[in-house]
Amino acid sequence: MTRTFTPDRIEKFERLLEAERTEAKARLAEHLEGIDEVRVARSDAAADDEHDPEGPTMTQEWSQRTAVLADAEAEVADVERALSRLAQGTYGTCERCGKPITVARLEARPTATLCIDCARLVR
Ligand SMILES: [Zn+2]
Repeated sequence: MTRTFTPDRIEKFERLLEAERTEAKARLAEHLEGIDEVRVARSDAAADDEHDPEGPTMTQEWSQRTAVLADAEAEVADVERALSRLAQGTYGTCERCGKPITVARLEARPTATLCIDCARLVR
């Protein structure tokens, strides 16, 4: 197997991904905090009044928040997976066709698992 990833480059992406992981985790923590606030506000509203005008808005807010939270969780998981691929030496290899993913693409999107051609086919 030809390794397009020299130790230098691996180190560079490791730093990139670690920075990305820190950011993703910070965002996740923020969303978790936000969702806690909504959770508290929601149970207050429910206990408060049977016909509370905030009801539907709260539910909408809740589903938006849970969607954003799920995204943030997925983002952290993506970065974790990329880091473990990097450790295993499979980082930068397309999961679909096995060809190398270009460095330019990885620089733009360090968690990419597909080469540009496969990404176009899948999406
Ligand atoms: Zn591919």
